[in-house]
Amino acid sequence: MDTKELKQQLADALIAEGADIVRCGNVERFHDPAILQLMPTAKTVVCVAFRQLRGSRRGIEEGTTYYQYTTMAVITLEETVMPIALLRGCAVLEKAGYEALPQRRNQFVRHDTANTSPEMYPEMVEAANSHELIMDFEQDAIDCGLGERGLSGSILTDEFGPCQRFVFILTDAELPPDPLVQPHLCDRCGKCVKACPGHALSADGKLDTWQCSAYYAGAAKAINPFMPEDAFADDPDRLAIIAGEAHLTPEHAREILSQLVFYPGMRCGYHASICGRACDTECYIHLEEKGALSRKFLTPFRKRPKWSLS
Ligand code: SF4
Ligand code: SF4
Repeated sequence: MDTKELKQQLADALIAEGADIVRCGNVERFHDPAILQLMPTAKTVVCVAFRQLRGSRRGIEEGTTYYQYTTMAVITLEETVMPIALLRGCAVLEKAGYEALPQRRNQFVRHDTANTSPEMYPEMVEAANSHELIMDFEQDAIDCGLGERGLSGSILTDEFGPCQRFVFILTDAELPPDPLVQPHLCDRCGKCVKACPGHALSADGKLDTWQCSAYYAGAAKAINPFMPEDAFADDPDRLAIIAGEAHLTPEHAREILSQLVFYPGMRCGYHASICGRACDTECYIHLEEKGALSRKFLTPFRKRPKWSLS
């Protein structure tokens, strides 16, 4: 079988398991040193992206249900759908005689302890050998030709804007590469920055991951209907925290996270998202309004002015 045919077989198997976009890049064009550390014989990196259903954001958009986003758009994708598709895709390559190394995010393991994963804190550990053993998922997605990096740091695609998650296969098969995407979606509108209830994104798009972890999990009252009146009662900064105006050190963010118990935890160690990744939601709405997305819906996502609590 030639490699073009093998690539098609691989894409068919992945799409049959729920994938939406499959892109390949030859290893020479990658910037990430982890790839060849992980698989010295790698010739191709395959990026496999899965849509987050638009409807999974509806509950938080309306202020009605909060678990659907985290359970369906994060945990079920990351822990069930994506690993199964990865295994099936790798099996196609290995049946053809090539080695295939599946790579999914491990939100428990970070490059260093200066950062955290808003979705998974506090169970993270530092990688034994620093960055060289963990793929740079966003840069690798760009180098595969999946999409472009928005100001928010999220990868934007023509189909789904910022609303997809992705995994990779490293393989020694030389699959035909896809073209790189020339950035054309992010217009630096700043709506992602303004949307964050905890000011975790700076104007130039730098993310404070500890700030994000606290506000992702619901430290801001304006977006958290579950917060009791006496939240953070012993914290001298409580009003600033609740207003989303406190600048949190990692230690302070940890302390706040330990008190964010108003909403049940999720399986596999994930935090429930109370912000619902408002940065990505506002970006999606902006791209939809501009008519920039190829995946069209009959009605716009935002049905009424955005709500907020006093
Ligand atoms: S909201 Fe605007 S600035 Fe932010 S990533 Fe999207 S298009 Fe770029
Ligand atoms: S909106 Fe949520 S996910 Fe986005 S930066 Fe702010 S806290 Fe983090």
